Amino acid sequence: MNTIQNLVRENIRKMSAYAVADVPASFIKLDAMELPCRFPESLRRELAAELAEAEINRYPNAAACGLQPLLRDVFGIPAAARIVLGNGSDELIQLLTLLLAKPGAKMLALDPGFVMYRHNAALFGMEYVGVPLNADFTLNLPAVLAALAEHRPALVFLAYPNNPTGVGFAREDVQAVIDAAPGVVVVDEAYGAFSGGSFLPQAGGMEKLVLLRTLSKTGFAGLRLGYACCHPVLADELEKIVPPYNMNRLSLAAAAFALRHYGWVAEQIDMLKQERARLASALAALPGVCVFPSEANFLTVRVADAAFVFDKLKENGILIKKLHGTHPLLEGCLRFTVGSPEENRRVCAVLQTVCR
Ligand SMILES: *Cc1c(COP(=O)(O)O)cnc(C)c1O
Repeated sequence: MNTIQNLVRENIRKMSAYAVADVPASFIKLDAMELPCRFPESLRRELAAELAEAEINRYPNAAACGLQPLLRDVFGIPAAARIVLGNGSDELIQLLTLLLAKPGAKMLALDPGFVMYRHNAALFGMEYVGVPLNADFTLNLPAVLAALAEHRPALVFLAYPNNPTGVGFAREDVQAVIDAAPGVVVVDEAYGAFSGGSFLPQAGGMEKLVLLRTLSKTGFAGLRLGYACCHPVLADELEKIVPPYNMNRLSLAAAAFALRHYGWVAEQIDMLKQERARLASALAALPGVCVFPSEANFLTVRVADAAFVFDKLKENGILIKKLHGTHPLLEGCLRFTVGSPEENRRVCAVLQTVCR
């Protein structure tokens, strides 16, 4: 037997690597909730000029780069909250898990939910408690409260709105979970820009509450910029395990540029929300297609034969996410990132020939 493999931790040996979709450039890519467009040419030139000035010979200084005041300004982050930057919010999910993974400590999250929560629990040896959603993908509050009381999790992850379902939970249900949780609660607002009712105004108000956000779903997935807004007590602990220089100078500079031109971003968000409504009614009008209400930049739908529809779209150069088979509640489900008007039209055109 291979000796190096024998040295690798047992639980990791059984895992498989996250598969990043490798699609031809001609494909319409609607699998990963990316924004369908980039800054217009003139802004891209300006950005290039700023990046040319970045001192990439020097280690980055995230605290002094000016990004944090911009984040506070643009998103209204309370003064009471500290901001911890992550290389994508994925890094912060990993670090928060590492921070709280004492022997015997548990993580609670909702299923189906964002796969990285469970993955990180496994990575750091936390016992994972998954509480099933209701069949309509709403939060089952009695079940969550019962699980909190029974398992006393050190860490709760709650995506608001939820991925991969798109459904936004009732605000009072989320508040009830925050209030009842005995440990840290991370409200992951990766899709917060597309929904109403953020919990961001509460950030910094409670030691146990962390608001997790990212620039990824609003146009900058390639920058890898996530941020956690938390109480200073938690921020002090979290900062001990953030790798030094985790954020690179080019990303920091580009993110600051993006925030200084947030008007363009806000326009894209408005466009996508309109497209979401249009796509939802177009899909709902197709025979045998059930569309779940979404507060995110994607739509989760149920069809009779998810594999067939997924394959037909792929044959036509459109990549979406097949959720069917990943969780019993996702039987027959597919997830469509909301694309540009033209992309959405092409999706509908293919589906009209497939769903009949
Ligand atoms: C996409 C996503 C993330 C990860 O975002 P990055 O900042 O790109 O790492 C985190 N949470 C949820 C729920 C997501 O869907």
